[in-house]
Amino acid sequence: MKVLKFGGTSVGSAKNILKVIEIVKTESLSENVTVVVSAIGGITDKLLAAAGKAIEKNKNYKEDFESLRLKHIEVIDGLLSGEAHETTLDIVLNHLSKLEKILDGIYLINELSPKTTDKLLSFGELLSSLIIYETMKLHDLNIQLKNSQNLIVTDSNFTNAVVNFSETNENIVTYFGSNDKIITILPGFISKSELGEITTLGRGGSDYTAAIIAAAMNASVLQIWTDVSGMFTSNPKTVKNAKPIKKLSYLEAIELSHFGAKVLYPPTVLPVLSKHIPLLIKNTLAPEDEGTLITHVVENRNPNPIKGISNINSVSLLTLQGNGMVGIPGFSKRLFETLAREKINVIIATQASSEHSICIGIADKESTLAKSVIDKEFENEISLFKIDPLVVETNLSIIAVVGDQMKSHQGISGKMFSTLGRNNVNIRAIAQGASERNISAIIDESDVKKALNCLHERFFESETKQINLFISGVGNVGKSLINQIEQQKKYIKSTLNIKLKVIGLSNSKKMVLDKSGINLKDWNSILNNGDKSDPIGFFEATNL
Ligand code: ADP
Ligand code: ASP
Ligand code: MG
Repeated sequence: MKVLKFGGTSVGSAKNILKVIEIVKTESLSENVTVVVSAIGGITDKLLAAAGKAIEKNKNYKEDFESLRLKHIEVIDGLLSGEAHETTLDIVLNHLSKLEKILDGIYLINELSPKTTDKLLSFGELLSSLIIYETMKLHDLNIQLKNSQNLIVTDSNFTNAVVNFSETNENIVTYFGSNDKIITILPGFISKSELGEITTLGRGGSDYTAAIIAAAMNASVLQIWTDVSGMFTSNPKTVKNAKPIKKLSYLEAIELSHFGAKVLYPPTVLPVLSKHIPLLIKNTLAPEDEGTLITHVVENRNPNPIKGISNINSVSLLTLQGNGMVGIPGFSKRLFETLAREKINVIIATQASSEHSICIGIADKESTLAKSVIDKEFENEISLFKIDPLVVETNLSIIAVVGDQMKSHQGISGKMFSTLGRNNVNIRAIAQGASERNISAIIDESDVKKALNCLHERFFESETKQINLFISGVGNVGKSLINQIEQQKKYIKSTLNIKLKVIGLSNSKKMVLDKSGINLKDWNSILNNGDKSDPIGFFEATNL
């Protein structure tokens, strides 16, 4: 069996859903296929926005509801016709009116528990899977729809539930063992607690649903179909020159996703890693692109030990410090236990060797709670001036440079920090995992774009050699050479990684020098407007 997961953009319009169907058709020629789908793009955010407004007694929640209602109708209209259109629309409108009642309830009673949030969010995936199922049936696919809530069992940690793998795996194996349709479609993200309540697996959790099924069924491959052509060397939306990474090891993928490469929900890798199931990230909008293949193989022939650079925004740095901490065991234990008790996730932690301070990175939205519980925990020590009240700095970002082979290469952290320093990016804290697969730095969120771009250039683009050319003589031969350079410079850069830049031109009368490169489209007039020719000066410039 192959497991294919399609994300929000992939199922975000009738046009894209038709692309999904083509992909599923092709993939199901060789093996049975399980299809896991996200909610229609943007719907989960809309549901949360509507609930957020309803609880604040803001009537505009009705507008959000109306826009998501219209979005579903638009998709149904674009995919179905005749009886199928009518019956599907009926079912969907029926679900939507239940959803509207929940929103009205939140508005009236001014309360939104995590349990109600999950109930509300579950509509997104339930509706998308239903609509796509009905469409695939019309396309004559041998298909069945299964509600994954009846397979995936979790605890009652609403909005971020923890999977009970023994029950879940048994349910999955039993279900697929007794069903023989070629294609099975299921909603991602949603699950049920041991008490039968609706739960969800955390934002981005449809990837995880697919991985859980793939591992339980020993699938031949897990394919994550999304809106970009693989895991990139950095977020392609922030770093223009980022490129898809052809191959990654599971551990590299975990590091990159854990540190913000949203294309893969971090828990997704573990289930497939344990069974050595290959994970392929592909682009629904460009299925011919190669994508990224993630396996247990660690590449050691790649000359660049860095595979990618990722970032997490909206981070707070907590610093606990004080002379009373030195040499006394138990401070960090109490600190981490306090955070764990409040379910505050620690993204990064570093301790200076003097033991004078511990720094911890957590999500901004949890920093107020963290401050109050930590100051309470250390109330006694603070009153005795053994430690200072917790220092909280907000609006920070973590950037992480990741690669399995970093440990066998010297000087990577040196390169990383000197590049950031040269570009005036102030580093607040540094952490390096013992695995040496990741070096991370905490910086100001306002510096992220600059930091990612300059690190990307340093680690991925500086392989391009720049050759500065001085051309003396622009007669027949010189002219042809200039034209040839102008015509072929793009090709030479992409195939040979060589950037040719003409920075000096001269003839017997005139000369021009320009370190930033002479525009070869207009070289003739630039030269004519240049300085008086000076062969010695021209020659000396070549030594600069
Ligand atoms: P889906 O809805 O298909 O699950 P997501 O929005 O969850 O898609 O993930 C895809 C997005 O992840 C991309 O559009 C891109 O903006 C973002 N992203 C962040 N970092 C990376 C990266 N290193 N490589 C690829 N995409 C990334
Ligand atoms: N729809 C959910 C979300 O937006 C789950 C997913 O798409 O993976 O977080
Ligand atoms: Mg996703």
